[in-house]
Amino acid sequence: MTHPKEERTFVMIKPDGIQRSLVGEIVKRYERVGLKLIALKMFVPKEEMVEQHYLLDPNWKRIVGEKAIESYRKKGMNPPSGKPEEVGERVLQGLKKYLTAGPVVAMVWQGAHAVEVVRKITGGTEPRSSDVGTIRGDYVLDSYQMADTDGRAVRNLIHASGSLEEAEKEIPHWFSKDEIVNYKIVQEKILYDVNLDGILE
Ligand code: GDP
Ligand code: MG
Repeated sequence: MTHPKEERTFVMIKPDGIQRSLVGEIVKRYERVGLKLIALKMFVPKEEMVEQHYLLDPNWKRIVGEKAIESYRKKGMNPPSGKPEEVGERVLQGLKKYLTAGPVVAMVWQGAHAVEVVRKITGGTEPRSSDVGTIRGDYVLDSYQMADTDGRAVRNLIHASGSLEEAEKEIPHWFSKDEIVNYKIVQEKILYDVNLDGILE
């Protein structure tokens, strides 16, 4: 097993994040918690890369569909379809349009519990209900209701891997090995060093 401090996660600032001039703010949030940026690039994603990205998890369409149907029922509303796969497919079509609409910034972050910590800082999928203090909660206001009324994907600024398994598939999907930089930063000494014996003179 690798040490927890070596965990890596994939993050993409979606086109709305770039348009809202939030690249610096978003990078700052992950930096200040102590994570290390080990890869970064800007580009306009190709539609097939976006589709493959979401289908890396063969169950993603069904899970997203089930979640969407459940959120409709909770509000006493009828979902657009009762079939999770169909609802998932609709979300995927929306995501292809959303993520190819302009440049994105893709990154890899490394550090203790990187997947979990990044998701915590990023906040829940729906900005309307994501916590205050998270990036999605603080900087955007979209909702499932609004997105589905208008037949588009929820605009929530960021993609972040949802699990270690997802991260391990998404990183090589978007980055080649030589785009990832292995290096040390001095703060790792205080975050992870066991003996703290390098401070006093
Ligand atoms: P994430 O891991 O928090 O990004 O959420 P998911 O993996 O469940 O969904 C991927 C993306 O699809 C989300 O970030 C949203 O942009 C969009 N999305 C998810 N669920 C819905 C939904 O029920 N309706 C719509 N319109 N978009 C959704
Ligand atoms: Mg996800």
